[in-house]
Amino acid sequence: MFQQITDNVAAYSLFPDEDVFRTMEEHYMYNHGVCFVFLSSAVNIARSGEATQSSTYVSGVSSVASNAIDGRKDQDWNHNSCTATNEDWEPWWRLDLKQKQSVYVIKVYARSDRFLERLKDLEVRIGDSPDNNNPLCGTITNYNIITTTFCCNGLAGRYVSTVIPGRSECLTLCEVEVYNGTMTENDVCW
Ligand code: CA
Repeated sequence: MFQQITDNVAAYSLFPDEDVFRTMEEHYMYNHGVCFVFLSSAVNIARSGEATQSSTYVSGVSSVASNAIDGRKDQDWNHNSCTATNEDWEPWWRLDLKQKQSVYVIKVYARSDRFLERLKDLEVRIGDSPDNNNPLCGTITNYNIITTTFCCNGLAGRYVSTVIPGRSECLTLCEVEVYNGTMTENDVCW
C-alpha cells in the first residue's frame, strides 16, 4: 500500500494494519538484504561533528574534510562537496562527534564520476581513540556500490574513522551520514 507522505517522499506499509510507512530508499535496502532501519526516527549526528583528514588535496576543486558533512550528497567530485586526500599511505578521514554516541547506521557516499576503485577496502571504525585504532563497524568490499550502508549495532564512541589500510591511496568521500537510530530488523550488513 503506497502513500504520499510529503511532496517528495512516497512511502508504503508492508501490512495494511501497520501504522508505519517506509520510504522508497528503505524499500530498496530491505529488498536487497542490506539492513533495515527507521531512518525517519534517527538523527544524522554527523552534521554537528568536526571532520579532519590525513591531508587535503589542493586544486581548483574544494576537497576539505568538512565537505563530507556539509549535507550535500552530490557524488561528482568536481562540484566542491567531496573530500580528497593526497595519495597518502593509509589515508584517513575522521569525524569527531564531540561526545560518545551510540551509532546504528553509517551511510558512505562515494565519488561516482570516476575512480570508484579508490575506496576498495575502506574500513569504518568507531571508538574513543583519536588515532583511528577503534573497533571495526564495516569494510567496503564492493566499491561499485556508490552509496554503502553500514549497520553498526549501537557501537559507541566519540570518533568515526574511515581508513584505507595497507596501501597508498587518495581517499575521497562525498558525504558521510551517521545515524543514532535503532534498527527494527538486521539482516546482512556491509
Ligand atoms: Ca558533501
